[in-house]
Amino acid sequence: TNDQLGQWDRETFFHPSTHLAQHARGETPTRVITGGSGVHIEDRDGSRLLDAFAGLYCVNVGYGRPEIAEAIAAQAKELAYYHAYVGHGTEASITLAKMILDRAPKNMSKVYFGLGGSDANETNIKLVWYYNNILGRPEKKKIISRWRGYHGSGLMTGSLTGLELFHKKFDLPLSQVIHTDAPYYFRRPDAAMSEEQFSTHLAAELEKLIETEGADTIAAFIGEPVLGTGGIVPPPAGYWEKIQAVLKKHDILLIADEVVTGFGRLGTMFGSDHYGIEADIITIAKGLTSAYAPLSGSIVSDKVWKVLEKGTDENGAIGHGWTYSAHPIGAAAGVANLKLIDSLGLVDNAGKTGAYFVKAMQDALGNHAHVGEIRGEGMLCAVEFVEDKADRRFFDAGRKIGPQVAAALLKQGVIGRAMPQGDILGFAPPLCLTQAEADTVVAAAKKAVSEVLG
Ligand code: PLP
Repeated sequence: TNDQLGQWDRETFFHPSTHLAQHARGETPTRVITGGSGVHIEDRDGSRLLDAFAGLYCVNVGYGRPEIAEAIAAQAKELAYYHAYVGHGTEASITLAKMILDRAPKNMSKVYFGLGGSDANETNIKLVWYYNNILGRPEKKKIISRWRGYHGSGLMTGSLTGLELFHKKFDLPLSQVIHTDAPYYFRRPDAAMSEEQFSTHLAAELEKLIETEGADTIAAFIGEPVLGTGGIVPPPAGYWEKIQAVLKKHDILLIADEVVTGFGRLGTMFGSDHYGIEADIITIAKGLTSAYAPLSGSIVSDKVWKVLEKGTDENGAIGHGWTYSAHPIGAAAGVANLKLIDSLGLVDNAGKTGAYFVKAMQDALGNHAHVGEIRGEGMLCAVEFVEDKADRRFFDAGRKIGPQVAAALLKQGVIGRAMPQGDILGFAPPLCLTQAEADTVVAAAKKAVSEVLG
């Protein structure tokens, strides 16, 4: 029964990103999800919810796609597992690597497979350090990340993540990680700044940081093309161009974390295509399999690959590998998923329906006295709440406006996400969202906002 499952859940299940004591006390009731189709999920109580966050921005093709389920089943029957060490591969893993590179920016050369976004970013930092060791400059080691960036929750990746919750009580960030300001135009230091001016300011701040630390101590800069968990924040005009110029000048590698933006979310195959980012390494996960099975990857550029290759000649095998790297079931899911993204035209739909969705949200809520900004790019949208619109003043954090609106939205049968920092309601629907479904989300958001904020 549901009651029995709820009790076992509270007694036995240690949930991620959860207030543990509240859950154990039963204050966050257990919802048992049983099925899904398109943009909807169903729970054991028979509720059907429109999931406008695609799980955790990962179910890009939508729920219940038989093509992927069948590919997984066929792979499991034929060969559920073999490792990928020392040249071993499966048809699925080799095919998927080829398909990824066929879609990736032109300067990309090879794919390393992992399980999730966090471990892929752990891999990336090790690759960057390995790279600098081979080049005889082991002291070039620090990584610059951004406040509000999200790159995972391991020890290194939790350090890269620029959200306080992921640091406090864990003794993070690690000493090799430093943070620079987020490209968060709505929260710019001077209201009179244009987007271009703010980008110039951020690039100058970055350069100052590099010069203070010493460029010969800094290995890489990591950033999401659009800040995701930090508030769904598209960059101001000119940002990536100016940041890349600074990094090039100081010989610092660029890791584009495309865990959210990869495979269509911004209306282009990669966020790098959207913003003219020429990364040295790209992190992929989530949309790679639309979360039908866990799989991630690090795509490395020609420039990085040529150095990594030399290192193994000198030192033997690279000392890095996971048991489940290139897992055949994840790879089979990935192959079927990428085919589906193409055949359903989902990249195009993310651009077109995403733009419709953001505009509809702006039309519905843009004039509300407590809506400070509605922003978005492709199939990403955020509504940011403020106490006072004129001076962009925050609500007192204790009022938890974001979570209250998300809860009111859920009552309307729509899932959005209260982003972890600030009063921001985020949306990242499956890329198959239709205009009619977008209208449903917008109408529910309007009701939820008026219920909480009048
Ligand atoms: N990078 C980005 C941009 C993410 O949004 C996430 C997760 O949301 C990660 C990395 C970490 O991925 P995972 O949760 O699969 O470890």
